[in-house]
Amino acid sequence: MFQGLKFESTNLPESEQELRRDVREFLKEALPPDHIPNSNFGVSESPEFSRKLGRKGWIGMTWPKVYGGQDRSFLERYIVTEELLAAGAPVGAHWIADRQTGPQLLRFGTERQCREYLPGIVKGECYFSIGMSEPDTGSDLASIRTRATKTAGGWIVNGTKTWTSGAHNNHFMITLVRTSPQSENRHAGMSQLIVDLRDPNVHISAITDLSGHHGFNQVMFDDLFISDNQVIGEPGNGWEQVMSELGYERSGPERFLSSFRVFVEFVRSVGPDPDRREAELIGRLASHLITLRQMSISVAGMLESGKTPNVEAALVKDLGTNFEKELPEMIRLVIPEKASKQFFATLQQCILEAPSFTLRGGTREILRGVIARGLGLR
Ligand SMILES: Cc1cc2nc3c(=O)[nH]c(=O)nc-3n(C[C@H](O)[C@H](O)[C@H](O)COP(=O)(O)OP(=O)(O)OC[C@H]3O[C@@H](n4cnc5c(N)ncnc54)[C@H](O)[C@@H]3O)c2cc1C
Repeated sequence: MFQGLKFESTNLPESEQELRRDVREFLKEALPPDHIPNSNFGVSESPEFSRKLGRKGWIGMTWPKVYGGQDRSFLERYIVTEELLAAGAPVGAHWIADRQTGPQLLRFGTERQCREYLPGIVKGECYFSIGMSEPDTGSDLASIRTRATKTAGGWIVNGTKTWTSGAHNNHFMITLVRTSPQSENRHAGMSQLIVDLRDPNVHISAITDLSGHHGFNQVMFDDLFISDNQVIGEPGNGWEQVMSELGYERSGPERFLSSFRVFVEFVRSVGPDPDRREAELIGRLASHLITLRQMSISVAGMLESGKTPNVEAALVKDLGTNFEKELPEMIRLVIPEKASKQFFATLQQCILEAPSFTLRGGTREILRGVIARGLGLR
């Protein structure tokens, strides 16, 4: 049965203008002098920048004060992340810990885990990776083979994760493992463990991407011991936990702004007197951007009011990542006559990164499956 989509109208809070001004002022001071702006959250990182951001209270800003957070709203966080991405700030070090790990620990973790990890994340000093994908297992996560076997006081883990962003720099990884053999219910028997990436029984090897950047890794566990204290939530509840995590991952401004700096450099190169093709392209890209932003803000508003707009979030990610992937291709066909060096450098970098935009966090085909199911079409 067709169930329909609901994008509720959402206004950003009254504090918006002041907060935006504060972030812009902060960025003038805090960006490293040699920083090349890049709105792709996955490639640009600076622990020093993350610590400065932490001191401003802009990491974990929605979390309770007792763990170092600011108890602010999701919509205020939205404003801060949007400004950081639009400026191409180096947010990569703390990004996953702020967006995903913190909310996950607050929802499913123990009090001890929250006290141990959240204050360090908030300060911009403690970074996490996501350990879901495995060789031969990306979209179909239920078929993971990394296994944890019960032993006295904990678990022994063996297996391999792949495409693990930042594992060579980060401190910990929330890792999805099988704690019971696969049964008829493919989603049963999985658990999430906090793995210390500096443990000698964890072996990390680099994977270099198309642009020559080392962001990914293969991570191997060789009889790695994990204590019972490092299990998140109930053993066996991993699938449900991972699914709730993907909701946070899918609808933020990082899902349509990754190529934003190319647009900025294009508009700068075109200058105040665009020709017809340039004007048409600017109008087209700007109107898509504004619509996506409105949809994304709507999802943030629904999350704020305690709803779970998973289908709407999947739609934002599908449309948004298509947009950010196509943007450099569309601009490539209309190179401005007076294009700057910075324009070419930004465009070149983005063309090499863009193929990943529609893969990470769930591919287009998987998202369209989620949307079709949510609409009752499947
Ligand atoms: C930049 C980047 C960063 C990443 N970072 C991380 C990370 O930190 N941690 C992590 O765990 N993973 C990470 N990933 C991995 C990412 O989540 C997977 O690449 C993604 O889920 C797809 O899995 P796969 O690569 O195994 O492709 P596959 O699942 O093998 O898919 C191959 C193709 O088949 C299609 N397909 C698969 N199943 C279906 C289906 N049922 N119906 C229709 N089509 C289907 C897919 O859409 C895709 O086009 C990252 C990926 C990228 C690109």
